[in-house]
Amino acid sequence: MEPSQVERHPETARLLGLAARSIMEVGPKPELVMERGEGMYLFDTDGRRYLDFLGGWAVNCLGHAHPELTRALQEQAARLLNASPAFYNRPMLEYADRLVAHTVLDRVWFGSTGAEANEGAIKLARKYGAVHPGEGGSPRTEIITTLGGFHGRTLATMSASGKAKWRELFEPKVPGFRSVPLNDVAALREAVTDQTVAILFEPIQGEGGVFAASEEFVRAARELCDFRNMLLIFDEVQTGFARAGRLFAYELYARAGAGGGPIEPDVLTLGKGIGGGFPLAALLAKEHACVFEPGDQGGTYSGQPLAMAAGQAVLDSILEARLWENAEASGRYLRERLDADPRLTRVRGAGLLVGADLDGSIAAATAKRSGAENLAQDVVATARAHGLLINSPQPGMLRFIPPLIASKDHVDEMMAILTKALDRVLD
Ligand SMILES: *Cc1c(COP(=O)(O)O)cnc(C)c1O
Repeated sequence: MEPSQVERHPETARLLGLAARSIMEVGPKPELVMERGEGMYLFDTDGRRYLDFLGGWAVNCLGHAHPELTRALQEQAARLLNASPAFYNRPMLEYADRLVAHTVLDRVWFGSTGAEANEGAIKLARKYGAVHPGEGGSPRTEIITTLGGFHGRTLATMSASGKAKWRELFEPKVPGFRSVPLNDVAALREAVTDQTVAILFEPIQGEGGVFAASEEFVRAARELCDFRNMLLIFDEVQTGFARAGRLFAYELYARAGAGGGPIEPDVLTLGKGIGGGFPLAALLAKEHACVFEPGDQGGTYSGQPLAMAAGQAVLDSILEARLWENAEASGRYLRERLDADPRLTRVRGAGLLVGADLDGSIAAATAKRSGAENLAQDVVATARAHGLLINSPQPGMLRFIPPLIASKDHVDEMMAILTKALDRVLD
């Protein structure tokens, strides 16, 4: 049955009443309550089924209720939930060793959220700038980021994010960040001073609207970091863990020239997909960048056993199923299908991190006729009413970030609903 035909259950009305009374609202939410997940689908308290191309916001890489992840969590929960960050625990050590072995980085520190991992990376860079000062011996403190970049919602990570809407928020900001336009190599070179200690960006801007860093930009950043002993920091909270069609998106870039070899970050932050839905994040660094001293960094839940068990199950499952290959194949097919609809343009992204714009002239004609203000949000809401979850992180565009188990059949099912939603909103 189409979700729009399902009646609201009194229990759902009761739950929404609780939300109205008790939740500190930080953003609009639709009038529904999610209850259960299974593979590519979510179910709400009215029994409506949703095809999930939001994937828990690029988090549930294995889909919902994945048996291996569920089993790992159940077993670890019964054995040891928390032993404090003062001690090592078994899953922490085994997982850390496996995780590091699958990256080009040497050591890892664990956190719970992407913002926490990025805060750690910012602190690590500042420490590096104190250990390797600029001319005259003063610590280097400045970090270059990109306009439209997104690194989290703590004060420092908001200060690092190049989101125009945040410029006036929560002043005073944490100083020490300078943003350049993504892929503007001249601006990047220009922004480097004797005070600069790191360059931080997402290989593909996710919240900014799915825009990839160009090979030229990444090469220039790597060369500047080599030349000036700065740290190249990749925020792969969204692109990591097979989402971009490689285990990590840094694998998409190579040095110039024949046999140039891969471009490797000095520092890498991971979140979202790393825990498959369990709160987990990681800060990884090359040996030379591991400059924290005792007391510099910590966190009550760093290396928490349940999170470690989740991380291990997710890594094992991704490797076992070679999910980056599925992300690549399904992502390619998804982009082809989106490209074939004349109402969508600038279809972009890699793997199963895909964005598309609503065609400007069609959207303008619709807006003129109906007075609609945010057509992309209308498409998102209409798709949801027909049983499909997608989102629109920027005006005029749609983003598709399903679990990495999405098949071509799921893409076809998604396109059928999206087509219906585009028909309703744009015609
Ligand atoms: C989501 C995201 C973050 C923030 O992660 P949280 O877990 O919400 O703190 C940071 N960087 C990027 C690229 C993200 O997509």
